Amino acid sequence: MTDPNAIRTNLETIHARMETAARACGRDPAEITLIAVSKTHPQDAVKAALLAGQSVFGENRVQEAAEKFPLPGARLHIIGGLQTNKAKEAVRIADAIDSLDRVALADAIARAADALGRCPELLVQVNIGDEPQKSGVATAEADGFIRAMRARFGAQLTGLMCIPPEGADPAPYFERLRQMADAHGLAVRSMGMSGDFETAIRYGATHVRVGTAIFGAREGRA
Ligand SMILES: *Cc1c(COP(=O)(O)O)cnc(C)c1O
Repeated sequence: MTDPNAIRTNLETIHARMETAARACGRDPAEITLIAVSKTHPQDAVKAALLAGQSVFGENRVQEAAEKFPLPGARLHIIGGLQTNKAKEAVRIADAIDSLDRVALADAIARAADALGRCPELLVQVNIGDEPQKSGVATAEADGFIRAMRARFGAQLTGLMCIPPEGADPAPYFERLRQMADAHGLAVRSMGMSGDFETAIRYGATHVRVGTAIFGAREGRA
């Protein structure tokens, strides 16, 4: 169920917390973007957030995202592991794909971008804890992969994304991602979720991806 007032209040609270976290470490709050993760929530929830002034959204499944987006005034990030056969639809609807993690996917994105005449902004997802069940390029292969994607996509490749292992202190993982982004001269560091976005801001996040704390709990998986 969508409660527009709750969504508005939650957005205000998250922005206040982001601002406090940024100021506490001497950062300008304006350099940090909130991605409102609307997966599993209906389009009405997205519209309520839009009305409350939120403009950047994240979805992890392309098919679900295509049922809600594009929406005027909304910018869409695809943040979940992306199947190669969904790349074309992702390129069609997304302003950014944050989960580029393998050459086959890069091939599919490049083909789709050619065919559709548009290429979203791209982030390389790094499997920062080298967890077998997670998508993202392995840390040992990240440098080579990032260089290759830079060569291929040029300025469309803007940064890195990660999801640290659950239950661990995320700080060292955030720090590692920031160092990788710095080493490659990439400005965007997408890291931090409902439970750890303040820590992520302390470690240099430029984008935080917050779902539950804005839209409430999700039912079932995802
Ligand atoms: C679901 C999801 C989020 C948001 O998680 P919350 O804990 O609900 O804030 C962030 N990033 C990715 C990649 C996700 O899939």
